[in-house]
Amino acid sequence: MPEAKVPVKPIEMPKVGDHPVLDFLNTVVRVDGELVDLLQSDADVRRWLARAGWPVDAAAAAKLKPTDLLETARNLRMAIRTEVERRKRGEQNPSVLNAFASLTRSYPMMVPDKDGRLRLERRLDWETRTPEQFLAPLMESTAELMVSGDFDRIKHCENDECVLWFYDRTRSQHRRWCSPAMCGNRNKVASFRKRRLGGAEAL
Ligand SMILES: [Zn+2]
Repeated sequence: MPEAKVPVKPIEMPKVGDHPVLDFLNTVVRVDGELVDLLQSDADVRRWLARAGWPVDAAAAAKLKPTDLLETARNLRMAIRTEVERRKRGEQNPSVLNAFASLTRSYPMMVPDKDGRLRLERRLDWETRTPEQFLAPLMESTAELMVSGDFDRIKHCENDECVLWFYDRTRSQHRRWCSPAMCGNRNKVASFRKRRLGGAEAL
């Protein structure tokens, strides 16, 4: 993927991925033909994590070196994108993602459910205050997607101009667009125009 630009004005982050990891990939969007990176600061990354349900303690984050969180998040995003694309080609090489995962810390906890039965819960070690650790829930979700995700359902929007990914959770597995209103509609208009042009040529 070529380098993405800085957005000129704030752009709402799309939430069409139907999976947090794919939504994370979708923080690079195409606007008027240009790739735009919606993550431009540590605060943007913190905002994204909070929205995904993985808030970062602001005081702990403030102790990081400036731009460390942003750069680490962008590196992780690139590694995820590379691996998702590789898996779609029927190949795999999780070494870069595994190297990232090895920098995160978590431990098992035995937690009783409401009937008193113990279940295993993975807890993140929040005493470790590194950029990798703040991104650990995203990394865990990535690992889960790579191991248990159905890659036939992980799709790139069929609009060639679009760069968004999504997890097709429809029963028929026929979802084609990031958004039927945006890309689906654009495609309909394009094929209508093509048909009309085709018709005009035939006259
Ligand atoms: Zn699209």
